[in-house]
Amino acid sequence: MENNNYEDITLTCKDCGAEFTFTAGEQEFYAEKGFTNQPVRCPACRRARKQQRNNNNY
Ligand SMILES: [Zn+2]
Repeated sequence: MENNNYEDITLTCKDCGAEFTFTAGEQEFYAEKGFTNQPVRCPACRRARKQQRNNNNY
């Protein structure tokens, strides 16, 4: 098998500075979606931003 081998990597959230794991599974998911960049925010901040955006729509 010549599949890409992803490894979990640790990233630092640009919003809160917390370290979070960009897992192999997530990297594969990103690659499938065609995303070439890595996430810059931890899951908590991403969720918070999403909620904020939703709230702003109302
Ligand atoms: Zn964060």
